[in-house]
Amino acid sequence: MIDLRSDTVTRPGAQMLEAMKAAAVGDDVFSEDPSVNELEEMAADMFGMQSALYCPTGTMSNQIGIKCHTQPGDEIICEKNSHVYLYEGGGIAFNSGAQVKLIDGDRGQITADQVKNAINPDDLHKARTSLVSLENTANRGGGSCYDFGEIEAIRKICDEQKLALHLDGARLFNAIVAKKESSKTYGRVFDSISICLNKGLGCPIGSILIGERDFIRKARRVRKVFGGGMRQAGFMAATGLFALKNNIERLELDHIHAKQLESALIQKSFTGKILPVETNIVIFEVLAPYSAPGLVEKFKASNIHCIAISTNQIRLVTHLDISEQMIKDVIKCIEAL
Ligand SMILES: *Cc1c(COP(=O)(O)O)cnc(C)c1O
Repeated sequence: MIDLRSDTVTRPGAQMLEAMKAAAVGDDVFSEDPSVNELEEMAADMFGMQSALYCPTGTMSNQIGIKCHTQPGDEIICEKNSHVYLYEGGGIAFNSGAQVKLIDGDRGQITADQVKNAINPDDLHKARTSLVSLENTANRGGGSCYDFGEIEAIRKICDEQKLALHLDGARLFNAIVAKKESSKTYGRVFDSISICLNKGLGCPIGSILIGERDFIRKARRVRKVFGGGMRQAGFMAATGLFALKNNIERLELDHIHAKQLESALIQKSFTGKILPVETNIVIFEVLAPYSAPGLVEKFKASNIHCIAISTNQIRLVTHLDISEQMIKDVIKCIEAL
C-alpha cells in the first residue's frame, strides 16, 4: 500500500524502536523522566528559547499555547483555514472561551497589513484582541511557506499593539529545510512555537511547545489540567530525540518527491489548478472526466491512498515511509489515467 493520505501515517523503523527500548525513563509528572527532560532541553536549545513542554499531540500543544496567551472573551487573529480554528474541534472556544477573527489569506498565510486591520480598537463593545496565530507550513495552503520578512513585519505590529504571537509549526521543519532557514531565527520572533514530531519527523506520537521559562511553567500546569501529564513518557520522548537528530535533513527528499508528483500531474488534462508545491504537500483540482472522490477511487484500485479535501480537490502528502520506488509507481499510475 502506498499511503499518501498524510505524513502522520509513518511507523517507527528499527532504529527508532531500538532508541525506545534503550530509553531511560522516570515519572515525568514529577519532572523525573530523563528522556523527556533531554528532549525538552534539546528543542528549547534548537530554537534558542528558554524552555519546552512535551505534549502528546500538536492539537494539545496549540491549545495549551492559546490558553496561556488569552483570557475568556479575548479575540485571536488567524487565517480562515488554520488548523487551530478548523481542525481542533472548536478547542479555542471550548478550552479558552475565546473567539476568533478569521482572515481571508493567501494559501493559508496572512500579511502584516491584514493583522493590523483586524485588531480591535480599545472599545468596551469589542473583544480584546490578544493573540495572533500563524501556521507554517500552512496545511490547507498546500504546505506553503511564509516569507520570513512578513513574519517579522507581523511581529512588529504585535509588539506595537502588545499582542502575543504563536506559531503552529506542525510542519515548521519542512519550511526550515525548504527555505534553508534556521530554527533560532523563529525562536527570536515568536512567543510560542508548537512543533509536531508525529508528522514528517516520523514519531508515532508527540509534539513540543516551546517558549520562555514562565510561559512554559504556566503551560505545564495547563497540560496537567488537559489530562496531558504523562508518566514514563521517555519511551516516546526517545523517538523525538531520535527524530530531531536524524530525520530533519531528510525532509528534503519528501519535497523532491512532491515536486515529482506535481510534474506528473501537470501533464494530465484532468489536473486543474495545482497549489505551488513548496514542501511535502500537493493539492490539486480535479477536472472532467473525474471528480475528486472518483479519482481517489481510481488511485485506490492501484493501491494508492489519498484524500479528497473538497469536492474538487485532492491532497497527496509525501513522507518518511514513501520510497523512491513508490513515487515511480504513483507516477506510472498517473500517466496511465
Ligand atoms: C497535524 C497538525 C496539527 C496537530 O495535529 P495532531 O494530530 O493533534 O498532532 C496542528 N497543526 C497543523 C497545521 C497540522 O497539520
